[in-house]
Amino acid sequence: MTFEPHGKHLIAGDWVATDKTFQSVPVTGEAKTFSAGNADLVDRAAKAAEEAFWVYGYTTRDERAAFLNAIADEIEARGEAITAIGTAETGLPEGRLQGERGRTTGQLRLFASHIQDGAYLDKRHDVALPDRAPLPRPDIKLIERPIGPVAVFGASNFPLAFSTAGGDTAAALAAGCPVVVKGHEAHPGTAEIVAEAIHAAIEKCGMHPGVFSMIHGGSYEVGGALVQHPLIKAVGFTGSFRGGKALFDLCAQRPEPIPFFGELGSVNPMFMLPEAMSARGDALATGWAGSLTMGAGQFCTNPGVLVMVDGDDTDKFLETAVEALGKVGPQTMLTNGIADAYRSGRDTIAAQSGVQEILNTTSDQRNATPFVFETTGDAWLANPALGHEVFGPLGLAVKVKDTAQMLEVARSLDGQLTCTLHMDDGDTELGQKLMPVLERKAGRILANGFPTGVEVSEAMVHGGPFPASTNFGATSVGTMAIRRFLRPVSYQNLPDALLPVDLQG
Ligand code: NAP
Repeated sequence: MTFEPHGKHLIAGDWVATDKTFQSVPVTGEAKTFSAGNADLVDRAAKAAEEAFWVYGYTTRDERAAFLNAIADEIEARGEAITAIGTAETGLPEGRLQGERGRTTGQLRLFASHIQDGAYLDKRHDVALPDRAPLPRPDIKLIERPIGPVAVFGASNFPLAFSTAGGDTAAALAAGCPVVVKGHEAHPGTAEIVAEAIHAAIEKCGMHPGVFSMIHGGSYEVGGALVQHPLIKAVGFTGSFRGGKALFDLCAQRPEPIPFFGELGSVNPMFMLPEAMSARGDALATGWAGSLTMGAGQFCTNPGVLVMVDGDDTDKFLETAVEALGKVGPQTMLTNGIADAYRSGRDTIAAQSGVQEILNTTSDQRNATPFVFETTGDAWLANPALGHEVFGPLGLAVKVKDTAQMLEVARSLDGQLTCTLHMDDGDTELGQKLMPVLERKAGRILANGFPTGVEVSEAMVHGGPFPASTNFGATSVGTMAIRRFLRPVSYQNLPDALLPVDLQG
């Protein structure tokens, strides 16, 4: 099954084009022409989403669950075509696209069962106490309600699971919020075929067409107009610090500021505790090499920084890791821009004082090979620039003097999506000292694993203090992600007939 994109935007059930275009830049096959988005399309999509909200926001949980499951079915029905266009556009291997498709449909179905369960509504009831002195207590009920139209930015590094029908879209639709997606230019054909799947599910389930629109990019005009549109009530974003911060600032500067749920990057430090390093340094080194280079290092959870005590075990670890990483050939990156940014990030790290390159490889154009650097705890503590994310398979080993300096390095960290401890039983005391610091730094703390796999589940947090995310109370992966698009409302002494259906009875 092949798919030939027509290059149009989906605006509330209609495929439309503007008079401007841009070209896709696939790794294989020919470039295709796509219509460029503009502020007028954003306005049409946002108005349709607002109109849809008055219906969709009042659908039953069963109706929305059936809709989410229908989207998953429609994506599965287009499975091979999605993989074909996704691999051509992004350079990601077939197996990755297939796995990501399973994750995408899996999270749609997970949200369907999550809303059917109903616990997310967080219903509370303070029963009236008419005889309470000195004042009677009224009857108060609380329930979570959907917030209105939500904007979602497709992420370059997850063409399916964090894009058109990805986690943000699934969470918002599950909550009862219509969605306007800004497709990522790195995979416009993939965005189109997935939008087509959502469109088919809308028709099958008889949903209001304004419940979903997808607008291609082509310029910053679309993103800027979307986050500033007065009918948009929240934004989901995964991408760069620079882009995310610019859009966050626009949200904060609106006459009615809105929440911007941005995930802006992380270096995901791994603390290599001494006993574990001595017992199994070699296995840890090859494990790290695999995690660092998975998907050309283009994961928000890529473990880019190691913190380890200087000494023989650390030297041996780095030798083994460099040997393993030296054998990893060039890997295709998502875009030419991301590959250029990777190499310029390498140059920035190399130019910092106290930093030494320990693996020097060569890559060009849209390819990446691993780069590894080492530095001292003193140099790290003196220079915050060493903690900035370089998106791709770049590793920085921070050799600390002793475990006291390891703690200092932990305290110096910016907010992270993850922090990892590699530890054995003899490291427990040091682990206990690190934990209170790491809890303040990261959304997820792991022991003896690698952070690159993010389970989509009930207990997952994919977020963390700024700049890992712009809202530390939120997650963009797992069922708790629905909370971002809900607002608690209290109903005091309201007759049953006026209450939301889920509170009646
Ligand atoms: P990006 O540059 O942040 O762009 C993400 C989205 O935001 C795109 O749709 C982009 O629109 C839009 N955008 C960015 N700045 C904007 C602005 N000032 N006004 C309006 N819209 C704006 O991220 P990217 O394109 O995915 O990749 C670039 C870099 O992001 C990578 O090199 C990497 O450093 C980082 N990244 C990090 C993660 C992570 O998980 N930490 C994931 C992906 C990327 P356009 O398409 O029109 O440019």
